[in-house]
Amino acid sequence: MKQYTHAWLSLRAMKLLEDKMSTLPPDVQKYTERFLGFIKSYPSTFVRGAWFPDSVISDNLQGGHTWKYEFSDTGRVNNYLAPDFNTCKTLIPAADFDKPLNLVTSISALPDRCEALSQSIRDMIKIYNSLKKGDVIAFNFSQVAIFFLMLSHYTADAHMPLHCDARDFNDPSTVHPDMEDIWEKEALKYYEASKKYKQFDLDQDNNLRLINAQNYGTSFLSKIDTLLNNLQFTPKSNKIEFDMYLGNTNKNIWDYLVGVCHVSFLTSTQLLPIGGPYDYKTIKIEQESNLYNNFINRSPNILADAIASIAIVWLSTWMRWELL
Ligand SMILES: [Zn+2]
Repeated sequence: MKQYTHAWLSLRAMKLLEDKMSTLPPDVQKYTERFLGFIKSYPSTFVRGAWFPDSVISDNLQGGHTWKYEFSDTGRVNNYLAPDFNTCKTLIPAADFDKPLNLVTSISALPDRCEALSQSIRDMIKIYNSLKKGDVIAFNFSQVAIFFLMLSHYTADAHMPLHCDARDFNDPSTVHPDMEDIWEKEALKYYEASKKYKQFDLDQDNNLRLINAQNYGTSFLSKIDTLLNNLQFTPKSNKIEFDMYLGNTNKNIWDYLVGVCHVSFLTSTQLLPIGGPYDYKTIKIEQESNLYNNFINRSPNILADAIASIAIVWLSTWMRWELL
């Protein structure tokens, strides 16, 4: 995904937590409120902070941004399932989840990256809290915020279907960057941002501001609002634990993201079926109306799921240190 898309998804995740807070158990509301109190100081840094994984770290080729599957008769069945608030999961036949997979390990590290960032955030805050004020060894809050933004980057990438598909859609086909370009252009068409200052234009509550509001209803982005309105974060049990919203099979951020990446891979094979009908060497999304329409129809689900994931990975990471 591209720079402003990453920041936009993260800003929407912040708003989603705010909107859903009253539906969460009272204890979780407290954690959510404290997390929001922290992260709401940083929205002006989201465009830069959520982009460091690409602009500075560039661990794309080592697999930091990807987790690539292929179907394989000699492979293994994945046992980590995305939770029910993942809407793309509901659009895939249940039997597809039982097909054995091979993971191309040389370009697959995304869940590892997210788990490591989540644990590092816990460590930074615990160490900070254990020290006297002004101790030179303490991390500062901006460092913690940057890690949350980097975590949002890798979490969002897990939802880009082609980040989880072992087939190459970058070269010679450019379907992968072309899809990401469509999202970036649409977000910037309806939400004003300053390229000079690398910031979205926010209202006085630090929320995104819609421009082109009269045409917004015609954009696929407007369907995201409906999906998020209907979304419910259902805990796996009544026990207040940091992993309570990550899904029944998942005990940590790594498990959760493996489940998400599995859904993304299956979504990719729905949009771009293995074996055709497209010629994958020359395919251009703008020239294939079926592919284009299917992609636009699925985009609200993909992007709403990415927003929900960032929200829940952030909240889980915050609860992880508070509950330790
Ligand atoms: Zn990335």
